[in-house]
Amino acid sequence: MAAGARRGGCAIAKVEGLDSDLLAAYERYVNGSMARLMRFMGVDVYEVEAHGAEVRTSDGSTYLDMGGYGVFFHGHSHPKVVAAVREQAGRLALSTRLLPNREQVLLCARLAESLPGDLEYTFLCNSGTEAVEAALKLARMATGRTGVVATEGAFHGKTFGSLSATGKEMYRTPFAPLVPGFTHVRYGDADAVAQVVGPHTAAVIVEPIQGEGGVNVPPPDYLPRLREICDRAGALLVVDEVQTGVGRTGRMWAIEESGVVPDIVTSGKSLGGGVVPIGAMTARRDVFRPFDENPLIHTSTFGGNPLASAAGVAALEAIEEEGLLERARELSALAFARAEAVRREFPEAVADVRGRGLLIGIEFVDEGVGGAVIAGLLARKVICVHSLNHPRVMRLMPPAVARPEQVETAFEALAEAVREAARMLA
Ligand code: PLP
Repeated sequence: MAAGARRGGCAIAKVEGLDSDLLAAYERYVNGSMARLMRFMGVDVYEVEAHGAEVRTSDGSTYLDMGGYGVFFHGHSHPKVVAAVREQAGRLALSTRLLPNREQVLLCARLAESLPGDLEYTFLCNSGTEAVEAALKLARMATGRTGVVATEGAFHGKTFGSLSATGKEMYRTPFAPLVPGFTHVRYGDADAVAQVVGPHTAAVIVEPIQGEGGVNVPPPDYLPRLREICDRAGALLVVDEVQTGVGRTGRMWAIEESGVVPDIVTSGKSLGGGVVPIGAMTARRDVFRPFDENPLIHTSTFGGNPLASAAGVAALEAIEEEGLLERARELSALAFARAEAVRREFPEAVADVRGRGLLIGIEFVDEGVGGAVIAGLLARKVICVHSLNHPRVMRLMPPAVARPEQVETAFEALAEAVREAARMLA
């Protein structure tokens, strides 16, 4: 209990351990198991401030952030995004919702400009999972059908609709029954999709590269073939770019590589410029019609708020003004060369290196090695993340604003951490 607090009262003076041992307070008030896991990983500091690829912690150390679950394409505290958010927060942070706001319209227009084809109408929300929920509901309304084909290992979020599309039983089973009508097939296998798509299929939903599934890059003809299969069956193609979108793969959108125009694209994560949470669902003109005709059928109090929209506009503009896609591609070449060198040096520990742009997956021979390497990196003050649906695969997701020497430092630390883990394995 907080010292000085009265239950039901408001005289909360001090939370025990907040300054001296944050993890103890975390364990008590946030989540015990998570706190114990962080302790197990050797975490005894907390994050205080972050700029670019650097995070400063409570003990005054600096960590290199090569993780961030795909949120920090612009790095932390990007000056343009922060300035836009500051200005907006002091003027009009949230919307009356009866009057339109300029920032929402501008962000939707910028998304329409940057996405291919007639992907033109955007529903803004506050997270990736909400964007997927909107896509699934729109797909039902636009087609009058209820079936959805998703893929094994997919990650689309953890609210009921998106969890129904997510392809990992561990997250799904405790919440069954989920939304009916979902079928999961092997990722990257267009024939498997063709076999299950039918007259009841409203949508096929896929990531252009599975992120949480372990950085799985499909064959080049995968999306074009899914496009054909959907067209033949009258089903919609929903591409979830929450993780891959807004620069992460070295292109603004990962779908650009395939030349395919999906019916619906979802985005989030980096769209907030690493400063504000946001989600977006963009649909082709005809597909969006049911939401257009009934604008109150699917709403969100905070969706399209001026604060997040201003961050989104600044994030998209910064990519263009600062040449962040080119920088991402240059850093990518360096990162993949270093990752390959680590794989060649430690074949007994590293099974594969794969990905695109600044989404770099390193698959270890077993989960234990992966965990040890992440802990080893953390001990060397480098942050990276595992993959939720494939814990053997570690992801390095450097920001496009990282300096080449920061990426070099991260890979030196990786080589040391793998060496250490390989020694343990021997
Ligand atoms: N879709 C994809 C492809 C994701 O990678 C994620 C999150 O990792 C989501 C959806 C869910 O996004 P959020 O965690 O913002 O709800």
